[in-house]
Amino acid sequence: MNKNISRRSFVKRTTVATAGVGLLSTGVLGSCSKKKERPNVLFIFPDQYRKQSLGFLKNDPVLTPNIDKLASEGIHFTDAVSNHPLCSPFRGMLFSGKYPLSNGVQSNCHSGRTAYGNFLKPDERCLSDIMKDAGYATGYLGKWHLDGPTPTKPGQPNIWDSYCPPGPHRHGFEFWYSYGTHNRHNHPYYWINDAKENERTDVNQWSPEHEADVLIDYLDNKDGKFRDEEKPFFMCWGINPPHTPFNEVPQKYKKRFEGKTTEELLNRPNVKRNFPEFNASTGFGDSGVEKQLDQAKDYFACVEGVDDQIGRVLDMLEKKGLKDNTIVIFCSDHGEMLGSHGLMHKNIWYKESFEIPFIIRWPEKLRPGKDNLLLSVPDIMPTLLSFLGLGDQIPSSVEGKDYSGVLRGEAIERPKAALYFFDKPEEETEKRRGVKTHEYTYIIGYDRNNKKHIFLYDDVNDPYQMVNIAGTKPEVEKELHQMLEQLLHETKDYFISYI
Ligand code: CA
Repeated sequence: MNKNISRRSFVKRTTVATAGVGLLSTGVLGSCSKKKERPNVLFIFPDQYRKQSLGFLKNDPVLTPNIDKLASEGIHFTDAVSNHPLCSPFRGMLFSGKYPLSNGVQSNCHSGRTAYGNFLKPDERCLSDIMKDAGYATGYLGKWHLDGPTPTKPGQPNIWDSYCPPGPHRHGFEFWYSYGTHNRHNHPYYWINDAKENERTDVNQWSPEHEADVLIDYLDNKDGKFRDEEKPFFMCWGINPPHTPFNEVPQKYKKRFEGKTTEELLNRPNVKRNFPEFNASTGFGDSGVEKQLDQAKDYFACVEGVDDQIGRVLDMLEKKGLKDNTIVIFCSDHGEMLGSHGLMHKNIWYKESFEIPFIIRWPEKLRPGKDNLLLSVPDIMPTLLSFLGLGDQIPSSVEGKDYSGVLRGEAIERPKAALYFFDKPEEETEKRRGVKTHEYTYIIGYDRNNKKHIFLYDDVNDPYQMVNIAGTKPEVEKELHQMLEQLLHETKDYFISYI
């Protein structure tokens, strides 16, 4: 999209500017802003929901009428990425506004990594801490996955889930209906508000459906049970499906995909059963992916179920008269490969894993459209805070950039590249960095034998990233290398000595 179209398709600039002045004049830290002065914010992020499963894009064979409607009423950021496409690192970047080496959430949180400091520190000043101090009623619902379980010794099985006690570990979230991480989609459990560790609540209901019920009650807020009506709310909903196990999804959502073959469902030409660049010795590959391709029907059933439950919540928002003055953001923490490049799941630089949906709707202020901003996850916090008139509260240590000017329809300097990151705190080998531009994806990766590999894809002429053209375009490669070097320099990344 050219810049003129993107600017024109945006915002009623004058109304936003006026609102901005009003916000700043009341934006005193610790003040209790009146409901009318700031919009509510509802942040919805299903886990592993790939961009290709946005129904309106007509890529995957899914129907997502509710998300489609949200997108048609909001702005779709078509080129948003998850810089480290994995659960905990995404969440760490989202809430801290920093890249993984700076916030310490370098990989997924589990007990084997706690001793490495791989968890969100209680003294990190996060988006939610700032929102609470600015007068928001805050709430977190669903999968959190940011705490470090009690450490286990090497060789002992890793413990993944962790109780998050009230206090600084919750980073300003007041209403709490959450768990660390588990994949019991049909039998989830939660710690609710001030419940102690041994007081968890077990539920026999599909988790997105149960959480939608909770969120509907939260929005309804009968007798002020859930939140102070005088305050705007900031509610985050981390939905677990369409994360694995995909088959834990109600039959009503599976029905539409019954009898469909893998060939009918997986329509991307890069779904290959053997991908020559991947094998067990490099550590870049999966094996036996052909046996997993029949999971696609359940994955798509989860996608449709998640859309259905989000629709119930958005309907309630409208019914309560909250639609116009609520910013709704829909995104995900990363995508799902579903057999593309012979891979399942995430944690890889290919589009199916790296790209994420990102939609923002605010009927009062944002004109619907789409924009190709190369939005990185750490950018979300400063962009949102600044857009809300809380730009002066962004900690100086934040590494993400404030792109709220894009939402205001201003001509601003846009990023030319987004960082790709893969690392594990406990291993010296297997590390990768790279950049994505509008034209190319460029990756430098070390395999588990510490051998260096370079991957380069022409994302415009080869949209399914079928051919690695590293070594064939020295000028392009040089420019991308410099962009990577710059990003590593900005984020003080030790990997700069490996490129
Ligand atoms: Ca995830």
